[in-house]
Amino acid sequence: MGKRYPVQIHARLPRLMRIIFLGPPGAGKGTQAKLLAKKYTIPQISTGDILREAIRQGTLLGLEAKKFMDKGELVPDTVIIGIIRQRIQEQDCKNGFIFDGFPRTIPQAEALRKMLVLLNLSLDAVLSIVVKDEILIKRISGRRTCPVCNAVYHILHNPPRMPGLCDRDHTPLIQRNDEKEETVRNRLVVYKKQTQPLIDYYKKQGLLKEVDGEQTIEAIYSQIAGFLA
Ligand SMILES: [Zn+2]
Repeated sequence: MGKRYPVQIHARLPRLMRIIFLGPPGAGKGTQAKLLAKKYTIPQISTGDILREAIRQGTLLGLEAKKFMDKGELVPDTVIIGIIRQRIQEQDCKNGFIFDGFPRTIPQAEALRKMLVLLNLSLDAVLSIVVKDEILIKRISGRRTCPVCNAVYHILHNPPRMPGLCDRDHTPLIQRNDEKEETVRNRLVVYKKQTQPLIDYYKKQGLLKEVDGEQTIEAIYSQIAGFLA
């Protein structure tokens, strides 16, 4: 019985967890990030969400970001990094955070590294979910959406009761443009071009963990939990 004592103590301590998630579209990154966010009580931080939030709150950096977005220009890294720096110092990040879609480039990754050093924080892991292109293409191009209620189906994995029609309102289902096979192939090319340097960067730092994203949701989750244990 004595052996169980330290294990229970450990289980009650909040585990600090600072994670970056990398994964192509359709790899199930969002699902896994949600599960981890719940397990460790840490927020999932995406650049798009925090930019919108900073703009909504009218912070100085938010207003700065808005100037670029209104012109249809990319928000400069200095502004993004500033907003992220404020975000990770908020109360709900005290146990850590999950970055989803950030960093996207090596300069962003370098800026993040320097910022974390200044804040005396460190990353625990960079999780890269790996799935073969052909599987991603089948997953994404099989999706059908109801244009009325936004319900999402999959022609193989979650088909509607009547082919091509929404279960709830019988509206003909559509295939979104960004889910058509050609578009998905292009998105994957762009993703790889953008992400490979980051994968190499974090591999060199010994932080990269490659997750087999072709398993079930539960199996993927337990592989990740094993990496983080
Ligand atoms: Zn519907």
